[in-house]
Amino acid sequence: MDHLPLFLRVQDRRAVVIGGGAVAARKAQLLLACGARVALIAPTLGAAARELVERGRVQHTGAPFAPEQLLDAVVAIAATDSTALNQAVARAAHERSVPVNVVDDAEHSSFILPAIIDRSPVVVAIGTQGCAPVLARNLREQIEAALPARLGALARFAGRQRARVRALLRPDLRRSFWERFFAGPAATRLLAGDEAAAEQAFGQALERARSVTSPRGEVYLIGAGPGDPDLITVRALQLLQQADVVLYDKLVGEEILERSRRDARRIFVGKEAGGCRTAQERINQLLIEHAGRGLRVARLKGGDPFVFGRGGEEMAELVRAGIPVTVVPGITAGLAAAAAAGIPLTQRTLAQSVTFATGHFASDDALNWDALARPRQTVVFYMGVAQLEHIAARLRAAGAPAERPAAIIERASLPGQRVMRATLGTLCRRARSEGVSAPALLIVGEVAAADAAQALEHVLTGLPGAA
Ligand code: SAH
Repeated sequence: MDHLPLFLRVQDRRAVVIGGGAVAARKAQLLLACGARVALIAPTLGAAARELVERGRVQHTGAPFAPEQLLDAVVAIAATDSTALNQAVARAAHERSVPVNVVDDAEHSSFILPAIIDRSPVVVAIGTQGCAPVLARNLREQIEAALPARLGALARFAGRQRARVRALLRPDLRRSFWERFFAGPAATRLLAGDEAAAEQAFGQALERARSVTSPRGEVYLIGAGPGDPDLITVRALQLLQQADVVLYDKLVGEEILERSRRDARRIFVGKEAGGCRTAQERINQLLIEHAGRGLRVARLKGGDPFVFGRGGEEMAELVRAGIPVTVVPGITAGLAAAAAAGIPLTQRTLAQSVTFATGHFASDDALNWDALARPRQTVVFYMGVAQLEHIAARLRAAGAPAERPAAIIERASLPGQRVMRATLGTLCRRARSEGVSAPALLIVGEVAAADAAQALEHVLTGLPGAA
């Protein structure tokens, strides 16, 4: 961001619009709608501006622009059709520290006007920092369509009830009360235009909330997906917005954290893949501690919480401590990597099963290498970057041919994503020469071949053990 979004109070303040055309008139009208005293500086007036002057809505000055006209102005808008004059206005405003907007000229403006959705007192402002006004307008249409028409009435109702709620409910109960209110029957009735029924439902809800003695904490075990913030689920977003505390891992990026509530406390509990025991114990302890204090805790994990995420262990600890847990699945890195590389994990003739395996312990005997080496299946290795040599060697030793296709996908769905195709025989050399680093995944199987026809050939020519 290089502009600070804010809502500026202009009521009863002097706002200066320079220009007499249709655009200037529109800007004047916007300022009038916000209660400003508008001065219009223009030697000649178009029809819309003339009407504003004749109806006495704006104070009109017919003299050419002079810097003194900006005296006491809370904002200035330059909307003439002369670039030179607009820039002169901008200069004069900058010298006097008056915030100025030059229409369609972000470079000379000290502020830009967003696209607006007005459901007063709810106002949504959308800006693109001057890059793409048309995109801002498209977004406005989408958001406009998604917002209930009576949203303003809902906000006004809540505003009127705030003092009452403050008087009757303890501070630690208020937020969850309001959350339930906005998702509950009183809000539904308000949005349907039935104020009386809403009032009644609100009173009942408030009574119920007063009888609650202590708030109940809970934990949301959330899969944040592979990294791209657009690949997070709607439910994950909803719960992130509710959580008072967010515990997050190394794989969860800033852009996803940004979706949590502004005032939520964020705690980094990153650890290397596989993590050491004490780190995991500390995380369990933090979860239980915060939820035990009545807070809603979001535990954000990369990918899916139950795929190499130790989500199962955390859930078991929480259940043991009597804390309610909600698990929200996420798109696991293996799925995102396959999509990124255009590798179908199963395909009728090429792969009838998929295995998600960890490469972390490739040197142990925890995996059944004979099974993993068989043809016509796909094996996705997580945490295998440091173990590529072991993985390739164990698969080869168990009978997989050197030409078995493989692909390494680095940073799937993230900026800098790379897909490297290889075979079991060339894998390690390829990874070394490309300088592969974590997070990366290895996919082994005929489906990983660069082109599907080639892969099919591979199977049909008969590999050892192929049925
Ligand atoms: N719970 C996670 C996996 C955590 S284990 C999930 O479901 O995705 C960490 C391993 O996941 C990394 O070592 C890497 O192999 C893989 N990984 C996670 N994010 C990745 C990404 N964006 N691209 C490639 N691999 C990724």
